[in-house]
Amino acid sequence: MKPLYDVIIVGGGPAGCATAIALHNLGVKNTLVIEASDYTAPRIGESIPPDSRELLEKLGIWDAFTAQKHAPCLGSYSSWGSDQLGFNDYLFNPQGHGWHLNRCAFDKFLALQVEKRGGALLKNTHFASLVREQHAYPIKVLLRNNAQLRCRFIVDATGRSAKVARQFNAKAKIEDQLVAVSAYFDSNDVISANSYRQMTLLEAVDYGWWYLAHLPNNKVIVTVATDPQTVKDKHLKDPRSWQQAMQLTQHIQPIISQSTPSSLHTWVAQSAIMNPPAAEHWLTVGDAASIYDPISSQGIYKALKNGIDAADAIVDWLDNNAQTINQYRNNIGNNFIQYLAQKAYFYSEEQRWPESTFWKSRQQPRQ
Ligand SMILES: Cc1cc2nc3c(=O)[nH]c(=O)nc-3n(C[C@H](O)[C@H](O)[C@H](O)COP(=O)(O)OP(=O)(O)OC[C@H]3O[C@@H](n4cnc5c(N)ncnc54)[C@H](O)[C@@H]3O)c2cc1C
Repeated sequence: MKPLYDVIIVGGGPAGCATAIALHNLGVKNTLVIEASDYTAPRIGESIPPDSRELLEKLGIWDAFTAQKHAPCLGSYSSWGSDQLGFNDYLFNPQGHGWHLNRCAFDKFLALQVEKRGGALLKNTHFASLVREQHAYPIKVLLRNNAQLRCRFIVDATGRSAKVARQFNAKAKIEDQLVAVSAYFDSNDVISANSYRQMTLLEAVDYGWWYLAHLPNNKVIVTVATDPQTVKDKHLKDPRSWQQAMQLTQHIQPIISQSTPSSLHTWVAQSAIMNPPAAEHWLTVGDAASIYDPISSQGIYKALKNGIDAADAIVDWLDNNAQTINQYRNNIGNNFIQYLAQKAYFYSEEQRWPESTFWKSRQQPRQ
């Protein structure tokens, strides 16, 4: 570990690693990624759309990605707005199919790509706080292990916790309070017809929606997304109550055997934007910048795209041109406004439960 870096990236998920790889591709070599984990604990977010290929190619990691053997995802079946299953496939997408990722393996793979380019990456290392000082490397970074480093520019890629941006008094504007509760099943406990294996299955219910996806490591993820009050009222953090709720679904239930999941994972799945998402000496990428509803399956795509765009902005900033950072900040805001409109449109497609607060509250973009 050196004491001085041009750029420190806090968080080695998709957004942080994409930023580091893109910076290296642009010739910024004096960088460090600080990552709290060792990439072994479960991570949420597994479906990526076909267009991700373009970003992986841009990063120069497409061939290495395909060698990883993540599972192809050919599209989705959904009961949304109707009891019948509709079918959206990627057949006519010029980029081909999407993927169901082994998410830990994918994030570990991205970290390896950073290191292969000569980038420094510290695992099991927690960012604690920072101080801004008069210095050629004005950001002093304090780690939880008491080490101190300095950099000229810092990137917040810590996901929804946005630990760096908060140090600069940036505040997240939260648009809704979605919560998701997931179970992982062994694929032997699942009686999916072959046609489901390469598809995501989505089912709307009066209090939210469920999804099921086959993952590459012989696992199947089943998740319910709803409001926090419903999680409490229906005791959805309790495996038996979760199982009972799942058994009342029309399309998910016939696929899963009767076994109760051994454990559940709860995820905050709010839509939110950081205000501001960038300023002098720092910017946010991925979920630290803006968080989209998981129904969009856009989180990882957006994280990779932010990383690529952020690298361009940082290179210009290091070259004394702050204009691109301003554009980057505006783009995060404009894209979020567009996303809110699309989200409201998508939720409005479901009209079977006009009295349900879950659906009513999501069918108009908030002012
Ligand atoms: C229920 C649910 C389902 C989802 N499904 C999908 C999906 O199907 N497809 C999709 O594209 N997206 C999905 N998402 C969204 C997706 O998970 C995120 O958008 C994506 O992980 C964002 O990547 P990121 O790199 O910004 O953040 P993260 O993946 O959260 O990575 C942040 C990194 O920062 C590290 N970190 C945090 N704090 C510190 C610290 N103090 N010091 C050092 N390191 C730190 C963490 O260890 C982590 O590695 C889903 C989300 C939820 C909640």
